[in-house]
Amino acid sequence: RVTATILTIGDELLIGQVIDTNGAWLGQVLNSIGVWVSRRVLIGDNETDILQALDEASASSDIIIITGGLGPTKDDLTKGILNEYFGGKLVLHEPSLEIIKGIFEKSNRPMLPVNIQQAEVPDVCTVLLNSRGTAPGMQFERAGKLFFSLPGVPYEMKGLTEQYVLKAIQTKFSLGEVSHRTMTTMGLGESFVAERIADIEDHLPGNIKLAYLPGHQAVRLRLTEVLQSGDSSLIDTYFHQIKERLSEIVVTDQDISLPELIAALLIKFNKRVTTAESCTGGYLAAGLTALSGASAYIHGSVVSYDNAVKENLLKVPASVLKTEGAVSEPVVIQMAKQVRILMHADYSIAVSGILGPTGGTEDKPVGTVWIAVASEREVVTKLCHFRYDRLHNREATTLQALNLLRK
Ligand code: ATP
Ligand code: MG
Repeated sequence: RVTATILTIGDELLIGQVIDTNGAWLGQVLNSIGVWVSRRVLIGDNETDILQALDEASASSDIIIITGGLGPTKDDLTKGILNEYFGGKLVLHEPSLEIIKGIFEKSNRPMLPVNIQQAEVPDVCTVLLNSRGTAPGMQFERAGKLFFSLPGVPYEMKGLTEQYVLKAIQTKFSLGEVSHRTMTTMGLGESFVAERIADIEDHLPGNIKLAYLPGHQAVRLRLTEVLQSGDSSLIDTYFHQIKERLSEIVVTDQDISLPELIAALLIKFNKRVTTAESCTGGYLAAGLTALSGASAYIHGSVVSYDNAVKENLLKVPASVLKTEGAVSEPVVIQMAKQVRILMHADYSIAVSGILGPTGGTEDKPVGTVWIAVASEREVVTKLCHFRYDRLHNREATTLQALNLLRK
């Protein structure tokens, strides 16, 4: 198999000031074209560390991708180090200089000598022309291995990867054809899901891998198959075996999010939904309206955070609020019923809960959430007890509510 090491450079990454999203993104795209990502290494802006990492990476991998440290400031060391490592000398690259000049002209800023230096590249590299920024990317080759040096700015790094890096890798190595199939389950934790399908997993052929991608409330399962020419594909066979085994907890066998699934179903059956939200403060509606074309299935929602809004707008009787409390089954039932009528919708979702970290009582601790889903025919309810922090409790509430609607 063809292996890769991803080196991301920058002190800011080491101290957690910036999260290494470049490494994560590169790992995903390399994996998707059939490259085995064997290591991701974070390194500070330090020459010794960078050189050592380069040595280790080139001893163990066919492909080495480096991001960061190409800028004009003193802490940006990558270019000089690579120049020495590959025994080159820096020369001016005219097409890159043109791009840099253009960027400065557009923004009406004066160009400094260090900016001209950005257009210098080692004469032993292939330049990856960066139309999105001032630092050109570089490609080197030594002993059958490919090295890429890309800017740290994620938008620029992605542009160069899509334009040059993937093609260069595919031209150099025969990677086989990679396919993925993903399903989402809800209702069982990762280890319980794994136990149920352990025998199927044990008998997967060597070119098919199963990955568990657990989230809050949902666990996604992804099968990846790498086919060399002449092999016949078995991914669908195994995917169906697993899906059959997990049938009552599979939410979707497409690689889409729950809001996307709900949106597709509402559009398909020409139905409209609305929400009445207390603890989630509109987060459910935000999720449902985040997709383009949302106006087809959602026209409005009510955020009834305060009891007065529940009472006045959603007609929850003051007596019920008083005796049962805002976080209770009769309250979400009334919220769901009333908002459905108010918004002329086919379905409605109502939520009321205590997301924390403060609040809560002995019989209704933090994480207690009531959910109701109403249609013209009926109202179904669900009581949840979440144990995350506030934001993740909100996320979990949203997923449970959408899943209740899906059913
Ligand atoms: P430029 O010449 O455009 O400045 P550069 O190669 O010098 O590019 P850096 O100075 O290392 O890039 O980083 C530029 C910005 O990109 C930083 O502000 C940082 O927030 C972001 N960045 C750098 N590395 C990463 C990374 N691995 N993941 C996510 N963001 C990153
Ligand atoms: Mg830097």
